[in-house]
Amino acid sequence: MAKAWFTEKHTPHAGITLALGGRLFDQKSPYQHVEVVETVEYGRMLLLDGCVMVTDRDEFVYHEMITHPALLAHPKPEQVLIIGGGDGGSVREVLRHRAVRAVHLVEIDQVVIDASRQFFPALAKDLDDSRVKVLVKDGFDHLDNHQSAYDVILVDSMDPVGEAAKLFTSPFFAKVKAALKPGGIAVFQSESPFYHTDILRQLLASMKTIFRHVAPYLAAIPTYPSGLWSFTFASDAVNPLTCTLRSEPALADGLKYFHPDLFRAAFVTPNYVRQITPK
Ligand code: SAM
Repeated sequence: MAKAWFTEKHTPHAGITLALGGRLFDQKSPYQHVEVVETVEYGRMLLLDGCVMVTDRDEFVYHEMITHPALLAHPKPEQVLIIGGGDGGSVREVLRHRAVRAVHLVEIDQVVIDASRQFFPALAKDLDDSRVKVLVKDGFDHLDNHQSAYDVILVDSMDPVGEAAKLFTSPFFAKVKAALKPGGIAVFQSESPFYHTDILRQLLASMKTIFRHVAPYLAAIPTYPSGLWSFTFASDAVNPLTCTLRSEPALADGLKYFHPDLFRAAFVTPNYVRQITPK
């Protein structure tokens, strides 16, 4: 029987193609088309509007790199907010840190949470932890009545389309800053530095008008556009290029990508990224 293939175009002329082993879930939510497929090479894969969000085989890179740098750079990360991230992977990594007292997960789409619970148990396993509060609402609005409430805010969103578009705007960055406690740190997933250079340039420039320290860092994620992904660290108090990292014994084993030396290395970016990074 002819093999079925999945293709996501990253540009009009380039993309990724994966052999499929089956289709497991397919539902249109009020916000997006949510699908779960089985791939031969990467295991189960979550798609939103036809774009790869998570695969069993490489999700560890994204989830370890959006969480641990901020949590280790903060002296006492007790209150954590995750905007987006309905798959649960960021929650799992955040709860590895013993200092964490409470995690608010603010995901706009209940269907993403339900599909993750059903098809990605290794990701969603900590969504019912007593320290976690899952709120199904728009992250942009959630910040309005949470002034100075969080030590760390992680924006685990997706491409700047649909409901996620507003999460790449200055008004949102200003709200994130206002929701941070003194000494707070925010990290945003900030797209591919290779294919989305303009999005990253604009994001860095507008963030720099709001936060004292703004620095992109990179990670290699095979199923994401160009295989190279960026995250942006923003804080008034903590400079990621000079800060001291907390030691967290719980991280010693069990991580497949991140280790403290990689923290420094990830902020050493290639020239074409340095050139778009405000000083
Ligand atoms: N790792 C993935 C990536 O980089 O493409 C993102 C994973 S996560 C699934 C992204 C989540 O953000 C989606 O579940 C989406 O529903 C959610 N989201 C988008 N806009 C949102 C908003 N305004 N408020 C809260 N969640 C939002």
